[in-house]
Amino acid sequence: MIIVMKPQAKPESIQKVKNLIEEKGLVAHISAGTEVTIIGVVGDKTLLQDQNLEIFDEVDKIVSVTESYKLANRKFHPEPTTVRVRDVTIGGGTLVIMSGPCAIESREQLLATAQAIKKAGAHILRGGAYKPRTSPYAFQGLEEEGLKYMQEARDLTGLPVICEVTSLNAIEAAVKYVDILQIGARNMQNFYLLKEAGKTGLPVLLKRGLSATIDEWLNASEYIISEGNPNVILCERGIRTFETATRNTLDISAIPVIKEKSHLPIFIDPSHATGVRAYVKSLSLAAVAAGADGLMIETHPNPSCALSDGPQSLTFDQFEELTGEIKPMARLLGRKI
Ligand code: PEP
Ligand code: MN
Repeated sequence: MIIVMKPQAKPESIQKVKNLIEEKGLVAHISAGTEVTIIGVVGDKTLLQDQNLEIFDEVDKIVSVTESYKLANRKFHPEPTTVRVRDVTIGGGTLVIMSGPCAIESREQLLATAQAIKKAGAHILRGGAYKPRTSPYAFQGLEEEGLKYMQEARDLTGLPVICEVTSLNAIEAAVKYVDILQIGARNMQNFYLLKEAGKTGLPVLLKRGLSATIDEWLNASEYIISEGNPNVILCERGIRTFETATRNTLDISAIPVIKEKSHLPIFIDPSHATGVRAYVKSLSLAAVAAGADGLMIETHPNPSCALSDGPQSLTFDQFEELTGEIKPMARLLGRKI
């Protein structure tokens, strides 16, 4: 449930309500907006049954939150969350572009990509060092060696870096080198991994599971936030449907639905959503028009030789063409880029 305080509520009154909730063994999360302060209550609310909170003069109303996710819920936190990564701000009206190879293949490949995407106006470098491949015989990633190249690419370009983690070992290695942890679609409901990623305190980009509902996805984000880590970025990357013309089906409606249900920033990954490089630009434009906070796009110096996801990876020229179209459109829509 949430307790909405009256606009003129004094800090002492807010504290009094918070103390009472905590005395009953529940957790109170305060969200101070410009107009009103909201106190979100997490825990067994039957413990508050005999407590009439409305007797407090400065309590405006009590609203019950029926969704099982609370901390990710917009009702708990009406203002959009912004996530700061070095000097990049994610969410709150900016448009942030992440790009890079599906898999880090070599130092040369990664450094060349980092420089090319920076020149084209990207803000964050992506690259996989631990690859959750469908086949156990496919390239599995360079692991820690790849993370070291990520750090070198950041030193060279100044771009913050993001890498997927697939195990506790990967988390322990990644925290030494990267700025954002990525939890992939296949691990969206690996609750142990979500909690461990949450504990690091690093921003976490959480992809939507292959067949996950929005409710399941937001509950997964709750696992990270409930570890005391509010820096979660959601990423829609296409879901399984009956359609076979594309690798997955981009659920563009996830953008307004997430904006309504949650305060977390939402990115779109048109590369994994389509699996086809020719469709990446139009879906990127659609995502920005629909209000996405950012894009994650795969690029490669020579996609035809890529060890992973070549058919959906853009060449550097194609990526530059894409950012050239995205930027004026984003500005026209009043977004900072
Ligand atoms: C990726 O970003 O390289 C990846 C494996 O994505 P997803 O988890 O969305 O399949
Ligand atoms: Mn990929």
